[in-house]
Amino acid sequence: MSAADESLATRKAPFDVARIREDFPILKRLVHGKPLVYLDNSASTQKPQAVIDAMARFYADGYSNVHRGVYLLSEEATRSFEEARDKVRAFLGARETREIVFVRGTTEAINLVAHTWGRRHVGEGDEVLVSGLEHHSNIVPWQLLCEEKGGRLRVLPIDDRGELMLDRLDELLTPRTRILAVAHISNALGTVNPIRRIVEAAHRRGVKVLVDGAQAVAHHAVDVRDLGCDFYAFSGHKVYGPTGVGVLYGRAELLEAMPPYQGGGDMIRSVSFEKTTFGEIPHKFEAGTPDIGGAVVLGRAIDYVTAIGLEAIAAHETDLLARATEAIRDLPGVRLIGTAREKASVLSFVIQGIHAHDIGTVLDADGIAVRAGHLCAQPVMERFGIPATVRASFGMYNTREEIEAFARAVRKVLEMFR
Ligand code: PLP
Repeated sequence: MSAADESLATRKAPFDVARIREDFPILKRLVHGKPLVYLDNSASTQKPQAVIDAMARFYADGYSNVHRGVYLLSEEATRSFEEARDKVRAFLGARETREIVFVRGTTEAINLVAHTWGRRHVGEGDEVLVSGLEHHSNIVPWQLLCEEKGGRLRVLPIDDRGELMLDRLDELLTPRTRILAVAHISNALGTVNPIRRIVEAAHRRGVKVLVDGAQAVAHHAVDVRDLGCDFYAFSGHKVYGPTGVGVLYGRAELLEAMPPYQGGGDMIRSVSFEKTTFGEIPHKFEAGTPDIGGAVVLGRAIDYVTAIGLEAIAAHETDLLARATEAIRDLPGVRLIGTAREKASVLSFVIQGIHAHDIGTVLDADGIAVRAGHLCAQPVMERFGIPATVRASFGMYNTREEIEAFARAVRKVLEMFR
């Protein structure tokens, strides 16, 4: 066990941000000679030493291909890979390990469902319902599907706060609706959507629900059975794990009935030139050599997050969000984008007369990393009549002092441009 693992294993203390920061080596970095203030956690999270060590350890000591060898190393790697799958199952509250498919990330998970379930169930004149606050990756795959099949993409709009207009839901769930695809938490606005209520409304009409959990899993405990959704997608890199690996959860009976996504090794039962039969779920959807190390290390990231506790993380981030909101909301020219009553970890804003990129650049000079742009959510930008926003998004290692530094830097922008 490495020092980082031991420090985690012995962690009993209540939430202690200073202690958590010690686990993240990158937070010691200077940027333009200033301490790094990393506020782009919605784009991707930094990695704790326990995750970095687990990656090195797997390649140094436990690596081989999986599901193939009769030799010890391959058996060990296969065990580690499948144990990681079970950690994900527990993390999401899924009933069965075979309901967890390893993919490259949220984007691939959604494409998988659109290509397989979607191609089979969406036909001419059928409808796919998405919401007005989706990331492009929960719009474009459905658009491609609708174009191919002659289907229609419909949109559940958002109001001026950035909340879904749920009073429109019943009218938009028509007899032609096949699937509703919605984010758990909006990456552009921070809105937390009432997924259980949405799922209940959809299921009453026999409509399946895919939840894009990319922004949720690092901030809220998720229980897919409690939510009742049919599919749930997330990315490892947004939950303190590695890039290149993510997860699609699907209810077993749906996954079983779906055709494969890609063909290749590892997903078959038998192959001949006349006919191929496919393996069981989840392997049917995991053609080729998967990101073995990524999956194993994602398991380690889940251990890390779970040891700290998502409730404590959520409480900490809620405090940071409230402070950051309070600090900038009344500054001259500042307009918050997204003021939903239920929000998590995201503060998007614009300043009248100052381009988002200029704000981002001034903040960067002070070592503060925020996102500036359309945030892969151009329809949200259009809804609010702006080309871009600045987004500060918080993670478990951010501090109140960093929020103060952020607010000071925003005030500096105002001084510089006025
Ligand atoms: N969905 C949401 C809400 C996101 O915020 C993101 C990434 O920013 C994605 C999907 C896509 O995730 P990935 O690029 O890891 O596939």
